[in-house]
Amino acid sequence: MTDKKEILIVRYGEISLKGMNKPYFEKVLQRRIENALADIPGIRVRRDAGLIVVSGEGEELPASAGELIRRLTRVFGIYSVSPAVRIESRELADIFAAATELMEARLAGRPERPLTFKVFGKRSDKRYPVTSPELAALTGEAIIEAFGDAVKADMTNPQVSLNVHLRSGEVFLFDEKVTLHGGMPIGTNGKGMVLLSGGIDSPVALWLMAKRGMSVSAVHYHSYPYTSGRAKEKVEELAHILAGYTGTFTLHEINLLPAQEAIAAHCPESLMTLLVRRFMMKIAERLALANACNMLVTGESLGQVASQTAESIYVTDRAVTLPVMRPLIALDKTDIMDIARETGTYEKSIEPYEDCCTVFLPRHPATKPTLAEVEAAEAAIPGLEGLIADLAASAERAIIRP
Ligand code: ATP
Ligand code: MG
Repeated sequence: MTDKKEILIVRYGEISLKGMNKPYFEKVLQRRIENALADIPGIRVRRDAGLIVVSGEGEELPASAGELIRRLTRVFGIYSVSPAVRIESRELADIFAAATELMEARLAGRPERPLTFKVFGKRSDKRYPVTSPELAALTGEAIIEAFGDAVKADMTNPQVSLNVHLRSGEVFLFDEKVTLHGGMPIGTNGKGMVLLSGGIDSPVALWLMAKRGMSVSAVHYHSYPYTSGRAKEKVEELAHILAGYTGTFTLHEINLLPAQEAIAAHCPESLMTLLVRRFMMKIAERLALANACNMLVTGESLGQVASQTAESIYVTDRAVTLPVMRPLIALDKTDIMDIARETGTYEKSIEPYEDCCTVFLPRHPATKPTLAEVEAAEAAIPGLEGLIADLAASAERAIIRP
C-alpha cells in the first residue's frame, strides 16, 4: 500500500485569474491561512500548482476537517475546500484501492442500497498515459467490482461524487466540496476607514469591503452622556465579531455632541441630520488620511431613510474629497439582513441601544436638500474647521482583536 495522507484542498477563485501578480496574491492568501490555523500544532500549509494544501505532519489532519473549515470560513480569498485523501503513487492499482476505501467509508455511513455514485476524473499532468474520462471509467469499474450490487453508477444524480484528481507526483481523492465566501485576501486591496454605527448596515458594509481584500480601520460616533457606555460597548462587540474576519483593527471612538450642539444652535432644524452626516464624513476623512486609508466606507442604501435619498447622498458625498464606498447602495434591507446573519453580526446589531443620530432628531427632516442650502447653513457655524480638527484629534482608540 502506498503512502496515504489526509489533507484539505483549498481552492481560490478569482486570484487564479490574476496574471503577473498571481504569486503575490497566493502568498498573501497562504499567510492568511497560516494565521487562521496558527495555534494548531503540526499544521502545514503549502502552495502547490494552483492550490493550497493543508495537512499535518503524520497521516491524519491535525484537527477535524470540520474545525479547519470553520476557521477557513473566516479567511477571504478561498473559493472552496475539500477534505481529501492524497496518495503519492500514481499506479492505477493504488488509485483504485484508495477510491474503494473512500467508497467503503461512504457505504458504512449511509443506509441506501444501492448507493449511487459517479467518478469524476481529472488529469492535470497530460503526460500521464490515461485520459481523464478513462481514469473515471476505470475507477468506476473497480468500485463496482469491489462492492457489486451495493453500489450503482448514476451519471445524472449520484449520491456520491467521487473525484480523482491526478497531479504530478500525487493523486487527490475527495467527494465533498464546501463553498466558502470567496473574495480576495485581506490586505490586497487598499485600506478603508469605515463609519461603524451599532446598526445592522454598517457592519455588513465593513464585511463586504473586507471580503474584497480591503484592510480596515473604523470610526464610531457617540453622544455621551445622551448615549450610554453600554451603546459603545455594543459597537466594540460588533467590531470584535468583524475582527474574526479582518484580523486586529483600530476603532476610533469620538463624542460628536459638540458638533450636534453647534448645529442645533446655528442651523435650521430640518437640516440637522444631514449636517451631522457631513460632520461624520469630514472627521472620518481626517482620520482616514492620518491612518493611510484611501477610502471611506458607509452602510448607506439608496432610499432607506431620509438621509439616504439620492439628493441627501449627493450632499453628504460633497463634504469630502476621498472616494466613499457604499457597498450596500443597491441592496434591499432583507438582503442586508441575510448577510448580517451569515457574518454573525445580526443578533448583536438588533440589541436595543441608543444611537447618536437619534439625539436632536428633527421633526421634519429635509429629503430633497440642495447643496447650496446645506453649505450656507453649515457656514453659519463659527469655527467649523477648528471644530472638525478638534473632534478628529479627540478620538479614543480601541484596539479590536479577533
Ligand atoms: P446602520 O444600520 O449602519 O446604522 P442606518 O440604516 O441606521 O445605518 P444612517 O443612520 O443614515 O443609516 O447611517 C448611515 C451610515 O452612516 C451608517 O451605515 C454608517 O456608515 C454611518 N453612521 C451612522 N451613524 C453612525 C455612528 N454613530 N458612528 C459611525 N458611523 C455612523
Ligand atoms: Mg444606524
